[in-house]
Amino acid sequence: MAAPLLLGIDLGGTKIEAVALDGSAGGEEAIVLRRRVPTPRDGGYEAILAGVAELSREVAAEVGVDLRTAPLGVGMPGGITRAGLVKNSNTTCLNGRPFRTDLEALLGRSIAFDNDANCFTLAEARLGAASAHAGGVVFGVIMGTGVGGGIAVRGEVWPGAQGIAGEWGHHAVFPDRGPLCYCGGRGCLELFASGTAVEADYAERAGERRKLAEIAERRGSDPHADAAIARLLEAFGRGLANVIDILDPSAVVLGGGLSNLDFLYSEGRDRVASLVFNDELVTPILPNRLGDSAGVIGAALLALAR
Ligand SMILES: [Zn+2]
Repeated sequence: MAAPLLLGIDLGGTKIEAVALDGSAGGEEAIVLRRRVPTPRDGGYEAILAGVAELSREVAAEVGVDLRTAPLGVGMPGGITRAGLVKNSNTTCLNGRPFRTDLEALLGRSIAFDNDANCFTLAEARLGAASAHAGGVVFGVIMGTGVGGGIAVRGEVWPGAQGIAGEWGHHAVFPDRGPLCYCGGRGCLELFASGTAVEADYAERAGERRKLAEIAERRGSDPHADAAIARLLEAFGRGLANVIDILDPSAVVLGGGLSNLDFLYSEGRDRVASLVFNDELVTPILPNRLGDSAGVIGAALLALAR
């Protein structure tokens, strides 16, 4: 008998993406159907809510599953407070609103729900780069505009007692350096190891702005690029060594724009190895395999455990 199809929705700032997923398949081949619509930001909260509900109905109808009973998971940036309200979303009209409860009321059913970093980690642990380690602990890392992360234990998201498990972006790697972070801390990893941070560091040194990819390309020919990347590697090494010392995960998977930087898997890894509390580093540090699809695949997989 065929495995039941899972429905997943990834609610992003610019697009809402939906998939029907065959959870028994591997990689991107697990996606049976994919639909994208622009996020109706101008219409505000109600329009986004209606847009997600409509897309769920459309995808369920197209693959012939009953939306009242099919496993359905939703992922989005940001988090959920203990009271069930959205927080830290870059789609700011969602913040402070009970999105999950409202969507459940609209669809007349319960849904699985989590943030994008946890969805990424779940997808890469079960069907992506770390699937060989799905039975263990996978630390999924997002290094893009910001720095986030998530933890999957035996193929399921480990949210933590407060829902912040894996959020390594705001642990201080250099508490004696750098400006205050918006979180109130100083020296947070995100201030050194995000794309935004590397580009700002380069601009300050060089007196001109360049994109991260350009900065990386200019290594060896531009001393400012060398210095900015050296600072990134130092923060990455310290930050990831800290996590590995505490969590000792079976594998680490990198996602987000910075995961395309090849040197993180060589020089970055060497830096982690030199700082970790062990004579050797056996932990695989892997590039993601599912790319931009990890979020929506992870959202669908959220529904599997329910
Ligand atoms: Zn911070």
